[in-house]
Amino acid sequence: MHNKYDVLIIGAGPAGIFTALELNKTNNNLKILIVDKGRTIEKRKCPERTQGYCSKCAVCGITSGWSGAGAFSDGKLSLSPEVGGRLTEYMSEGEAQELIDYADKYYLGFGARDVVFGLNNQRVEDIAYEASKHAIQLIACPVRHLGTEHAYKVLKEMHDFLINQPNIDFWELTKAEDLIIEGNKITGATLVSKGERIELKAQYVVAAPGRGGAEWLKEQTDKLGIITENNEVDIGVRVEVPNSVMDHLTKDLYEAKLVYYSDSFDNKVRSFCMNPGGVVSGEHYDGDVAVVNGHSYADPSLKTKNTNFALLVSTRFTEPFNQPIEYGKYVARLANMLTGGGIMVQRLGDLLKGRRTDYDRLKKSTTVPTMQGAVPGDLSYVLPERYLTSITETLKAFDKIAPGLYSRNTLLYGVEVKFYSSKVKVNNDFRTQIDNLYAIGDGAGITRGLMQASVTGIVVARDILGKQG
Ligand SMILES: Cc1cc2nc3c(=O)[nH]c(=O)nc-3n(C[C@H](O)[C@H](O)[C@H](O)COP(=O)(O)OP(=O)(O)OC[C@H]3O[C@@H](n4cnc5c(N)ncnc54)[C@H](O)[C@@H]3O)c2cc1C
Repeated sequence: MHNKYDVLIIGAGPAGIFTALELNKTNNNLKILIVDKGRTIEKRKCPERTQGYCSKCAVCGITSGWSGAGAFSDGKLSLSPEVGGRLTEYMSEGEAQELIDYADKYYLGFGARDVVFGLNNQRVEDIAYEASKHAIQLIACPVRHLGTEHAYKVLKEMHDFLINQPNIDFWELTKAEDLIIEGNKITGATLVSKGERIELKAQYVVAAPGRGGAEWLKEQTDKLGIITENNEVDIGVRVEVPNSVMDHLTKDLYEAKLVYYSDSFDNKVRSFCMNPGGVVSGEHYDGDVAVVNGHSYADPSLKTKNTNFALLVSTRFTEPFNQPIEYGKYVARLANMLTGGGIMVQRLGDLLKGRRTDYDRLKKSTTVPTMQGAVPGDLSYVLPERYLTSITETLKAFDKIAPGLYSRNTLLYGVEVKFYSSKVKVNNDFRTQIDNLYAIGDGAGITRGLMQASVTGIVVARDILGKQG
């Protein structure tokens, strides 16, 4: 085991992987170590997906390990800078687009399917026109859809390529505990690797811990006096309906990114992560908070009869409150408390009638839930009224362009929470105030999707290469 590297990358998600890919492309003399608290890709397992139950693993196989939260995602690569993060706060739209196209070539090179939805399509304009009549905004964004099984393969190809480079090491089950600085310069990090404590020296440290490591990064930045800003927290539900309700939107767009401002509260509500023919799934944070998510396979034989998508209400809390992530987890825990630790499901009709969905009522639902383990319940005991009302008003509005959405058999799973990590103060190359320490990806509050996270890795790699001269 070496304990001195040129570059230490904390987190083997897309942000970390693309840092390594881009560094290695230009300079394969740099000694690079990638660490992840989760497992290597082929050892990542989710009992919920294989055996139908969540065993609340200490390190969630869905969000941690090689390829990060992206391993089991269905790999929708958003090819526009408008979607998936805040890249354009750090560069022009043109530069962001160029980097996205560049990163996309990496994905294609590692085997991504050459299928893009929503590109040069008159239907997309027609849908946007129709939506605008009902105060709904359609955010047009071409999407390359890998599919759950292909996303896994592409990220595994990247793994196999990188670990076969003589200058690159990957340590699984290795958690970064503390960043070490001398003066105002990073010199390495304390790692705990398979029970062993290691003080690892590195000239550059790239913190790419994803949403699952956001709190760790916040602790570290607070300790080091790096400024962070509250990000918004998105709280809502995952909606599941028969494909027939959404098909006319998803056929051309794959994912219809719709935005509506709720009638009562004027809160921004948006659809997110749409999965035609998909399944609703769960994921865990910190081993104890279960939140809902969804994905879909590209293989037609694995398609279901349902489409699912998140409907999220965005809130940016202002001073003095500074714990948006904790707030989101608190709401998620309420649903967990009422379901014995899992995900809750309710029919829209029951919610509107002010009654719980129980197993008998769920059986009557013509939309058959794809998440077997979801427990029927009452979301009004979980979500604050502001959120619940905004969600039902938005479903009613969306029903105008997707008739059948505001049906009593529409299923709502709770809760879906997107914890956008505190935004770490970085410059346009994602350098923090500490020399040679970078913060990127979802964990730094800069991105919220595979593509933009990948781009942040490329930017950092180029900056490090530039410093090398
Ligand atoms: C089910 C699901 C579906 C999704 N679908 C899509 C999609 O279709 N399209 C899309 O664009 N995005 C999707 N996303 C989001 C996407 O996966 C993330 O935006 C992206 O993975 C973020 O990349 P990242 O590298 O910043 O962080 P992550 O991918 O979260 O990776 C961070 C890694 O850091 C590790 N880590 C954290 N803390 C430490 C520490 N202290 N020490 C060592 N390791 C640490 C974690 O274990 C993790 O493996 C999905 C996410 C989920 C969970």
